[in-house]
Amino acid sequence: MTAYADFYQRSIAQPEAFWKEQAGLIEWFKQPEQICDYSNPPFANWYKGGTTNLCHNAVDRHLKDRANQPAVVFVSTETNTEKTYNFRQLHTEVQCMAAILQEMGVQKGDRVLIYMPMIAEALFAMLACARIGAIHSVVFGGFASGSLASRIDDAAPRVVITADAGSRAGKIVPYTPLLKEAVALAATKPESILIIDRGLSTIDLGALRAVDYTAARQKHLNSEVPCAHLDATDISYTLYTSGTTGKPKGVQRDTGGYAVALAASMKYIFDCKPGQVYFATSDIGWVVGHSYIVYGPLIAGMTTLFYEGTPVRGMDGSADGGIWWSLVEKYKVTHMFSAPTAIRVLKKQDPAYLTKYDLSSLQALFLAGEPVDEPTARWIAAGINKPVIDNYWQTETGWPILATANGGGLSGFKPQFGSPGVPMYGYKLKLVHESTGEELKGHGEKGVVVIEGPLPPGAMQTVWGDDARFVNTYWKSIPGQMVYSTFDWGIRDANGYFTILGRTDDVINVAGHRLGTREIEESIAAHPNVAEVAVVGVADQLKGQVAMAFAVAKDASKLGDANERLKLEGEIMKLVDGNLGAVARPSRVYFVTLLPKTRSGKLLRRAIQAICEGRDTGDLATLDDPAPLLQIKELVSVK
Ligand code: ATP
Ligand code: MG
Repeated sequence: MTAYADFYQRSIAQPEAFWKEQAGLIEWFKQPEQICDYSNPPFANWYKGGTTNLCHNAVDRHLKDRANQPAVVFVSTETNTEKTYNFRQLHTEVQCMAAILQEMGVQKGDRVLIYMPMIAEALFAMLACARIGAIHSVVFGGFASGSLASRIDDAAPRVVITADAGSRAGKIVPYTPLLKEAVALAATKPESILIIDRGLSTIDLGALRAVDYTAARQKHLNSEVPCAHLDATDISYTLYTSGTTGKPKGVQRDTGGYAVALAASMKYIFDCKPGQVYFATSDIGWVVGHSYIVYGPLIAGMTTLFYEGTPVRGMDGSADGGIWWSLVEKYKVTHMFSAPTAIRVLKKQDPAYLTKYDLSSLQALFLAGEPVDEPTARWIAAGINKPVIDNYWQTETGWPILATANGGGLSGFKPQFGSPGVPMYGYKLKLVHESTGEELKGHGEKGVVVIEGPLPPGAMQTVWGDDARFVNTYWKSIPGQMVYSTFDWGIRDANGYFTILGRTDDVINVAGHRLGTREIEESIAAHPNVAEVAVVGVADQLKGQVAMAFAVAKDASKLGDANERLKLEGEIMKLVDGNLGAVARPSRVYFVTLLPKTRSGKLLRRAIQAICEGRDTGDLATLDDPAPLLQIKELVSVK
């Protein structure tokens, strides 16, 4: 056993030796000559001189020992499909996809935009790009044409890969009309479209040059396409952030550093072994999908469960809040990764689902993407009787910044409710005062979470096509020093565990008191009749800002009555008074049916705040459903 504290210390004090050792977790065509070139900060070049390939490490490498082991289990509750591909079959499919792309003219460094539902071909496409050194840019399937168009313009892809349609809770979403419209809107046009016809919807690509995947696959099924020997610093992909706080940023990632970072995280953070089964419920449109649906598990020689569907709908299309747990039983899932938003959906289901299936294979449930409130974490941990491991990170970093690492013989920090844990190896994390930049070393002091450069392997290289934006956005917000800002607000306890209090945008200032909206939300969420709540700061002439709360009631049956609403509002205010003091008390508590969220399930406080202040809501490309915002608009306009 190694004490985590020592492991961490070594990663900070001797980064070269530390990361050289981790480089041994992957296969290289040529060993790196330099572990980290940081001669031009904040740009870090990891593993310079080395050559490798993500697809080689995810697929080819495993043919020797586990060719017949399942690599991908594709499950779609939308189309009632289950299909398993072993590593040999995956190798065949990926080579075939790579050959098709090559025939379409795709070469190393070309961008390939993937606008796909969660079907196995999407994973083949990502790996095929990695194989030949093309840069993939996955755009969440079903994004509206405007958002897609701006991403096409930014990436300038030679080829777009799409499908006839996606499906969400049984509703078919035709993709081709959206893509056709997006290409018409975009200034840069792709040369051709590779289309996977699932037979769900008619294909409407107008005059765009399209290649039919089924026919092309037939032609190339026996193709052999070797893995390109890529420089460790060659770009593997670009991916946009979720757009919770504004215009999404095009995160660019390398090849070698990313492969090493993922391999190390699978070992130390997720405690995975080859042959085990990983089920991440995210989507390839998000970073969790890149790191922990596609690359991480496969690099680790695991089976990845690739899931199309919702948490509450079964194979036959009927309501089934136990579908995920039934898959855990059926496929002997060992590691599950989900988001708090999904767990809150499950919380509204019959709790009997949690004990209906044999979950003995499962080691742990990992949650990330948003703060997980303690009641929700405790509910799921007790329900499935497994460790629930919160972990905090960003699209930018590619793997956890804060977590509790107990794999690979590490020990010392157990998961704790209400905290995502401690800084992960390689991250020189600090809390600093927002306006003075002074480091806050004590515990209980609130500050901005920043990371000293160089960022560890796997983290973003730059903003695609815009080095200046990378430097100016991330490295210049703290006065007097060049550090990477997470733009999250945090606090550390006496044992070194952090809590994320929300985004720096979400800190409100009431008559000189600085409060995180999350703190207020946590105390409101403790009310037995509150299912979910969003708190925003709203400009106020007298106090600077005041808090305003939007709550979803568990039982809203009486809330049609104004007196009942007032009564509940009063109880909530009293709760906040008791927990945080009267300064934190929301000026109003409104009751809503749903909260506005991004497509990835994150609260869009920015848009709520804009509405409360009568401002324009700005870029809402990632908004999932406009109805909750309209409801809020109506509520706040009635004084
Ligand atoms: P944008 O940067 O475009 O506004 P975004 O920040 O939502 O979008 P992501 O990279 O998907 O895009 O999300 C990262 C953010 O999510 C973190 O900076 C943090 O605010 C939040 N987050 C992620 N995991 C956790 C967690 N475990 N606890 C608390 N917050 C989390
Ligand atoms: Mg962000």
